[in-house]
Amino acid sequence: MEQKYFTYSGVIHIHSTYSDGSKSIPEIAAIANELDIDYMLMTDHNTLQPRLDGLEGWYGRVLVGIGSELNDREDKNHYLAFNISRPIDVTVSAEDYVCAVRKQGGIGFMAHPFEQRSVMPEYPPYPWTLWDNECFDGMELWNHMSEWMEGLTHKNKYLRALHPRRSILSPKLQTLERWDELNQVRKVVGVGGVDAHGHIYRLFGFIPIRIFRYKISFRTIRTYVLTKNPLNREEDASVNLSRVYEALKAGRCFVAHRLMGAANSFQFWVEKKDGQATMGDSIPFCTGMRLKVRISEKAMIILIQDGREINRTDGDSADFPVVKPGITRVEVYKENRLWILSNHIRIIRD
Ligand SMILES: [Zn+2]
Ligand SMILES: [Zn+2]
Repeated sequence: MEQKYFTYSGVIHIHSTYSDGSKSIPEIAAIANELDIDYMLMTDHNTLQPRLDGLEGWYGRVLVGIGSELNDREDKNHYLAFNISRPIDVTVSAEDYVCAVRKQGGIGFMAHPFEQRSVMPEYPPYPWTLWDNECFDGMELWNHMSEWMEGLTHKNKYLRALHPRRSILSPKLQTLERWDELNQVRKVVGVGGVDAHGHIYRLFGFIPIRIFRYKISFRTIRTYVLTKNPLNREEDASVNLSRVYEALKAGRCFVAHRLMGAANSFQFWVEKKDGQATMGDSIPFCTGMRLKVRISEKAMIILIQDGREINRTDGDSADFPVVKPGITRVEVYKENRLWILSNHIRIIRD
């Protein structure tokens, strides 16, 4: 693809001491600065206070945006809301706060929509129940902490506490299936979240160990955005954040498991004689269209249309014919583990 966009690697869904995280926003930003992270989006529970306190901005080379994770009175329908400048009232119904985010011109993603936990009663699940809402922009497809918690059993919890990254394998199949289904009706953008808290866990009840150190979480699930203009530290943070939010809202983004490799050079686009389209775009179907993928190293590239695999190839690029219209995305696997998950290109019937 003629490079029209600029790709940035980010971490989304982070808690600080403004809610139940264990470090301050400047401390967390300093950790992000040690890694290849371009932006991070904070989501403390039911508060926008860090933004009101002026903590949004550039921290070294990392752009920090401040949103909020909202939840209803039953602690369900966790919603990651960004680009909001006024606090959202969460004493109303979930339906109302999800739509209030949109009314402010914000964007939002349902968090860990299919979370199920059983083993640890002190950490109950927080599922999404509001499926027929028109106002949400997208969903968190892959949540580091949620996946870790779900895989927890009494037998493995100590091992998992010591090696939190070993358990990260893939998003829930149920989440991906619902995501593909929702996209049959309208665009629903997929993002990845780390849900980082820097939790302290008491091993055997008394030895404190910090599971999910921020640094560990930040090396797992990333959301890469393709912005129209480059991020530029000479410009105000709000200008740069609007570039990130525009890409997220458009669905010009993809999710990758950073531990499997950097994914900055991933590209997925559709090409026809007189035009191109990338993730988040809609393009009318015509004969002779090709779907192209480029990555930095050899891997298994699987093409998925309307929720079903329709083609695959092994290599550092792919060039698939488009045989019919459909909501189309790719998954990239390395050593049988999911590495990259694209957003959809909507190839629509002309
Ligand atoms: Zn949550
Ligand atoms: Zn959270």
